[in-house]
Amino acid sequence: MPIYPLPEQEAERLARLRRYEILDSLPEETYQRIIRLAAQMLDMPVAVISLVEGDRQWFKARVGGDRNEIPRKLSFCAYTICQADVFVIEDATKDARFARNPFVTSGQKIRFYAGAPLRTNDGLNMGALAVLDTKPRTFSQKDKQNLTDFAAMVMDALETRLVIDRAETAERRFIDAMESLPNGFVLYDKDDRLVICNKRYKEIYAESAPYIVPGATFEEIIRKGVENGQYLEAAGREEAFIAERLYNHQNPGEPIEQHLPGDRWLSVQERRTSEGGLVGFRIDITTLKRQERELARLAWTDSLTGAMNRHRFMELAGKEVDRARRHGSEMSLLLLDADHFKHINDKYGHAAGDVVLKGLVERWGKSLRSHDLIGRIGGEEFGILLPEVDIHNAVCTANRLRKEIAELPFAFEGQLLRVTVSIGVATLAAGDDLPALMRRADLALYRAKEAGRDGVNASAA
Ligand code: GH3
Ligand code: MG
Ligand code: MG
Repeated sequence: MPIYPLPEQEAERLARLRRYEILDSLPEETYQRIIRLAAQMLDMPVAVISLVEGDRQWFKARVGGDRNEIPRKLSFCAYTICQADVFVIEDATKDARFARNPFVTSGQKIRFYAGAPLRTNDGLNMGALAVLDTKPRTFSQKDKQNLTDFAAMVMDALETRLVIDRAETAERRFIDAMESLPNGFVLYDKDDRLVICNKRYKEIYAESAPYIVPGATFEEIIRKGVENGQYLEAAGREEAFIAERLYNHQNPGEPIEQHLPGDRWLSVQERRTSEGGLVGFRIDITTLKRQERELARLAWTDSLTGAMNRHRFMELAGKEVDRARRHGSEMSLLLLDADHFKHINDKYGHAAGDVVLKGLVERWGKSLRSHDLIGRIGGEEFGILLPEVDIHNAVCTANRLRKEIAELPFAFEGQLLRVTVSIGVATLAAGDDLPALMRRADLALYRAKEAGRDGVNASAA
């Protein structure tokens, strides 16, 4: 009756054998070398590394013998794997358990067997390293020690193989997960040198891609990126940008945003790793930024004319006033109001009035400079802020804008709508804030109306 290990141990043994991935794998030179040495050193005609699995025992490596597999019930090693130490049969013919074993009674006629269990660190016997002879022998303490050492070498080889396999699997999994991410991923070591990044990361930073290589420092990569126009915000203030970016990188916390060529936007998220390195994530937020911009534009724009609404005009005009005062530069404000606009609505209808309001902004928008601001202040009243323009030039501009309306009627459903505007002009004076400037422009507008409309009036500062 062969002795089986306890059933629960047997299941664990099998699972372990599978993990070693040695079941049915071809004999390998590592094991063959160990078994040749064992046979040589102990002077045995037969030596095997056997693994016991289910109802069979098979040889991972062998010297002598002519079979690669035998039934477990005939196996000597099936006994060894139930032992803590070397198992010796000095003369099988004299042992009731083996005297009738066919390997003893016929074939090679085995007489001697010594097996050392192949034992894992946690005490599970996977199989045996055994030496056999066709004549009875004794086995000294030294021989047992040698056999045990060879068995330990086999286990070391198996464990090493397992560790390498695990490391390879872990790396494969990590790379697979990293490459499957829709976002950019990067890892820096504690010296701030790039360890690894995914393909997406290099696609995102196309301008810097040739410099994004393992071993490169973060600063080198950023500098090359700035040189190659990778960061729109760096234009014209390169060193300041690099200093800020390095500071953020060295003190990671809240996400920061980056504006990249092609009007793409990134959210940059960085965190320290436990070994003092840094892991980074890049999320494309272009769509979000566009929506944000569109929402802001809608919130700031008058929907009928496309000019800024009152709120936005006042906000930006306030900033311009502050700036002009800081720099001591000139600045003028025009308030423009359509004359007798009620008549237009009454005579041609509200839709006609709308066409005129749109037309006013369109004409003026074309003839103003890009940094002039135009806003719809009220129903048919507009404000135009002219930075760096003195009173004389402001009056000239106002007259030009007035004539652009008076001299060319608007067309509406086959009819020509003649419209005029009155304009009040005020120029920034020392001590002015925006409300003071508005008040004076408003007063000038009132005077232009009083003077008979279709005219320009400039308030004295
Ligand atoms: P004044 O020369 O004194 O400025 O005369 P006015 O008729 O232009 O001035 P008043 O303030 O009496 O009338 C302004 C008119 O503008 C009344 C209002 O119906 C019209 N209006 C305001 N907003 C809109 C608009 O969005 N569309 C149209 N069609 N009309 C508007
Ligand atoms: Mg009016
Ligand atoms: Mg008005």
